[in-house]
Amino acid sequence: MKTFYILSAFALIGTCSTPKFTTKIQNIKDSIKLVDSIYVLNYANTVTIKDLKTHLYEFSSKKFEGRKVGEKGQKLAVEFLKSYYINENIASPFGNDNYYQSIPKSFFSKEIKSSENVLAYIEGNEKPEEVIIISAHLDHLGISDDGQIYYGADDNGSGTAAIMEMAQAFNLAKKEGYGPKRSILFLHLTAEEIGKQGSEFYVQHPVFPLENTITNLNIDMIGRVDNIHKNNKDYIYLIGSDRHSKELHYLSEKINNTYFNIDIDYRYNEEREKHHYYTRSDHYNFALKGIPVIFYFNGEHRDYHEPTDTPDKIDFSLLQRRTKLIFATAWQIANQDHRITLDKDNELLK
Ligand SMILES: [Zn+2]
Repeated sequence: MKTFYILSAFALIGTCSTPKFTTKIQNIKDSIKLVDSIYVLNYANTVTIKDLKTHLYEFSSKKFEGRKVGEKGQKLAVEFLKSYYINENIASPFGNDNYYQSIPKSFFSKEIKSSENVLAYIEGNEKPEEVIIISAHLDHLGISDDGQIYYGADDNGSGTAAIMEMAQAFNLAKKEGYGPKRSILFLHLTAEEIGKQGSEFYVQHPVFPLENTITNLNIDMIGRVDNIHKNNKDYIYLIGSDRHSKELHYLSEKINNTYFNIDIDYRYNEEREKHHYYTRSDHYNFALKGIPVIFYFNGEHRDYHEPTDTPDKIDFSLLQRRTKLIFATAWQIANQDHRITLDKDNELLK
């Protein structure tokens, strides 16, 4: 039996790495040309530990009562995000001071109140109609029956703080004359914890046409270390990056290998992986619409979905490195000469 399994494994590897397929993949790798290496690092370096700390401690503080969808704490959390973007002078796609995409109560199951996604936007200089979405959910689990707050510092204060810093960095670049060619939507999603309902609503009511939504980079928990990596903390799981666009996958690899050398762990990207993380956060609703996605994730830990997921346990220097990686990846997608190619349209794969 053992031998049989080993032989089958070899047979499988054989079919995936035929000389022809290897050549095609090499051609895709060779076709990726990184843009603006000086500028991308300049602006990536404006992502600071100090700011990440300030945002994350505030966002996962008691005041927001665990940010349960539709409840008072979640309303305060969206106001907090809105004030941030107003202060930073980063516009909303709706104009004026309207940063909310409201989701009516009727969209949810009966016990949930109306809620809102928060949207901030930087318009591209050359191809404004092509949009990259950087997303993270803003909601969490609220307060337990015995009165304990679920702070959700990692889940998903980490992703939220990362987006706030990236938006500031892209905005500074734009002010200094290096704004992105394509547009970037910073999308803070509600109702993830009750079944990815905020992103479901967004894809049903897209603010920018989904045909021109060229990539979704989704962040859900990037501030901690899981048990698997206790002795190798400089890692991150990437999930989904090769499903719709091999170009996106190899572009992401190249950015990391060139600038950061974080240990990228793809174990949860396996198609039949038992945790099914690919289907478990907001990027999945974009992937179902055929949009290339990358899901950034640190894995589960003992405080996952517990009141003990608190900001003092966040590793801020790791959060900073991971945020820079995502920023540089978004920068490349926004600024390279051509739009990310879907595998089905990729001549190099034919
Ligand atoms: Zn989450």
